[in-house]
Amino acid sequence: MRCAVCKKKAEVYLPHHNLALCREDFIRFFHKRIKKAVDDFKMFSEEDKLLVAVSGGKDSLSLWDSLLKMGYNADGLFIHLGIGDFSKRAFEIVKEFSENRKAELIIINIKDEFGGKTLPELVETTKGVPCKVCGKIKRYFFDRIALKENYDVLLTGHNLDDEAAFLLGNIFNWNIEYLAKQSPALPEEDGFKKKAKPLIYLTEREIAIYSFFNNIKYNELSCPFSKKAKSHLYKESLHQMELSLKGLRIKFYKGFLRNRKLFEKAEKNYTLKPCKICGYPTSSEICGVCKIKIKAEVSEGEK
Ligand SMILES: [Zn+2]
Ligand SMILES: [Zn+2]
Repeated sequence: MRCAVCKKKAEVYLPHHNLALCREDFIRFFHKRIKKAVDDFKMFSEEDKLLVAVSGGKDSLSLWDSLLKMGYNADGLFIHLGIGDFSKRAFEIVKEFSENRKAELIIINIKDEFGGKTLPELVETTKGVPCKVCGKIKRYFFDRIALKENYDVLLTGHNLDDEAAFLLGNIFNWNIEYLAKQSPALPEEDGFKKKAKPLIYLTEREIAIYSFFNNIKYNELSCPFSKKAKSHLYKESLHQMELSLKGLRIKFYKGFLRNRKLFEKAEKNYTLKPCKICGYPTSSEICGVCKIKIKAEVSEGEK
């Protein structure tokens, strides 16, 4: 097969675009897909100060790598969760990535924030669902750092597979409020900075190819808590369907983006006000993370 652009030998075939590309043209294609998402949803401009939430996985690192190569002003934010070897490896990889590129990296260590407790210990003391506790804590520090360090936009590495699976889950459960909020870009409001997902037009496979072509090392360990997540089931079902219905995912997701306005009308049945302890926007008196802190300290006192 020949590259559709330069006619050199193709190294990759993208079924849902029916496109064969050489290595260089694939990388250009990848950056163009990011630029298209950025433009379609007015995510950010060249002047903006960007903060990329990096986990050590291939999505967030490919995003950060792309933004740096595309000439954007993008720093990284890593949250060390203290989940054994998984977090240790993630931290090594992210640190090496930022050092190699002389890019700015902000590190938050959960242990420093929760009186010496790691994420597994916090899950234990609060008797919470691991992915929920983790998601809550990560979102909290993403939002706080973006605000405190005055970044214009907070970016995450959610890809097309993630967004389509999340959409499917929200439809199965008719989470109208989530559907109303599921957007490639959320404006700055309610005490949160602007947020965006520049990888929405790229699949997991395309990101894996990009990281391979660019020698991006990523955490090959998977989180020991992630096995039970329902989102995997939705993702897997969509993959299965994609095998016989090529382009289903992108059609499904783009159809939603076109019709999002239908859900935006959904009433917000909550109002956000600053947490009494830390000031983070919350729908109750005390925010979820301060509640975790209180529970963690209480159990500490019992010992
Ligand atoms: Zn080519
Ligand atoms: Zn709080």
